[in-house]
Amino acid sequence: MTTHEYDVVVVGAGTAGCYAAASLAHDGLDVVVVERKDEQEAGHIACGDALKGADAFPDAIPKSQIESSFTNTGVDHGRFELPAHETVLDIPVPGELAVIDRFEYGRRIIEGAERAGADFHYDTVVQDVCQDDTRVTGVRGVRKGDPVTYDADVTVDAAGALSILQDKADLESTTFDTNVSYSQFCSAYREIVEVPEPVEWDDALVFKPTQRAAGYLWYFPRTSTTINAGLGFQMTEEPMKLVRDLRNDLQNRPEFAGAEVRDKLGAALPTRRPYDSAVAPGFVAVGDAAGHVNPTTGGGIAGAAYAGTYAAETIVDALDDPTEAALWEYNERVMDHFGGRYAGLDVYNVLSTAVDVDDLMGLLAALPGEKLAEALYSGSTSMGLALKLKSAIKSFGYWGTILDFYRTKQLAEELMGRYESYPSGPAELSAWQSDRDALMDRIYETTGADPKY
Ligand SMILES: Cc1cc2nc3c(=O)[nH]c(=O)nc-3n(C[C@H](O)[C@H](O)[C@H](O)COP(=O)(O)OP(=O)(O)OC[C@H]3O[C@@H](n4cnc5c(N)ncnc54)[C@H](O)[C@@H]3O)c2cc1C
Repeated sequence: MTTHEYDVVVVGAGTAGCYAAASLAHDGLDVVVVERKDEQEAGHIACGDALKGADAFPDAIPKSQIESSFTNTGVDHGRFELPAHETVLDIPVPGELAVIDRFEYGRRIIEGAERAGADFHYDTVVQDVCQDDTRVTGVRGVRKGDPVTYDADVTVDAAGALSILQDKADLESTTFDTNVSYSQFCSAYREIVEVPEPVEWDDALVFKPTQRAAGYLWYFPRTSTTINAGLGFQMTEEPMKLVRDLRNDLQNRPEFAGAEVRDKLGAALPTRRPYDSAVAPGFVAVGDAAGHVNPTTGGGIAGAAYAGTYAAETIVDALDDPTEAALWEYNERVMDHFGGRYAGLDVYNVLSTAVDVDDLMGLLAALPGEKLAEALYSGSTSMGLALKLKSAIKSFGYWGTILDFYRTKQLAEELMGRYESYPSGPAELSAWQSDRDALMDRIYETTGADPKY
């Protein structure tokens, strides 16, 4: 058995882990990133390759260091294909957007954290958490067949969706959110496909509904001839045959005739609200391991980078005695920056499990694109009277769905308001949760959806 001692052990060399490690190392802490993959495979992660908010990434790893992975910065809108309604909607995407070579990006962020001074231990599978009463004191695992232990003041769980650390740790007497089930996740799969001729839509992220509710197909152009093609579905649904369904769609698109598949990967991602609390004594979860993904788009890279950075900045101040109260500021910063907004957007996910998919698509086809874009990214939108009338005439036949949407939108906004008064310490969490849960009950009642939490 080998034992390593560090100030902080970070499990997972993805976006959340690398940003956390880089920031901790910049602040002079001894930090190790433990990764199950080998050095060559680390950074190879299933993704649609769309990076939103690339202009305003945390500077723990400078943008100049990851920019070489931005293979397409000419993308400025979403293209929504609604075949059943013979409609294509072009919707502007606010903020800077890049399609990236995800593997190259993965290598660059690892390099960024290494340059900042973090150690990386590859081929190391974490299998358990060490605990002294409720306090997490490190992790145990296996490195190339040999048992290995990491003792650390703080353990950062950056191990991605459905992290094993949270199964193993006893978190019951802490505020850490354990109200997590597989049905709050999405199962997704993607292929990297080379096409012989440049596609016409190399300035767009292409989205298309899947045959069944709560899923979509995407075609994201890394370049005009290298396309990230994928799809996913919410795990509340009957499982889809992801590889087959993608193949079927590709075969019906003339631009993919003669195409070659270069890479295939699949994974789960959280499409739920962020964890109510992602801290326990000596323990912090970041990125997918804490539900930091936009639940309507599935975009999680930016949330992971920020969560990693905020966690690191909090840990630096809390290192001497990393109690929940000392780590709490991390929860507050996440909720303030994006957590409240993602919780609001999650309400539309809840609604989508209850409404008829044809009605939803019909409604999408009838609404003005720029308003949909606002709703998708900010969780809220408003319309002038003329636009309202124009949309109302176009959307005749979907007014029942519109009414559902309108009511849902009001509740989503009310919910975001609750997150503005997210508690300033662990002692007030349970009162805040009771109040929020009462509002969630109204959301389930209004949408007719089954409770998600
Ligand atoms: C198919 C798909 C498409 C997506 N498309 C997009 C997109 O276009 N844009 C976007 O912004 N987001 C997208 N996402 C979401 C995005 O990929 C994630 O939100 C983001 O990668 C989260 O980063 P993370 O660091 O939290 O976790 P991850 O990137 O998953 O990193 C976790 C790391 O932990 C390691 N690990 C796990 N368990 C252990 C263990 N026991 N021991 C040691 N190491 C371990 C893993 O090997 C991995 O390296 C997509 C996700 C999927 C699945």
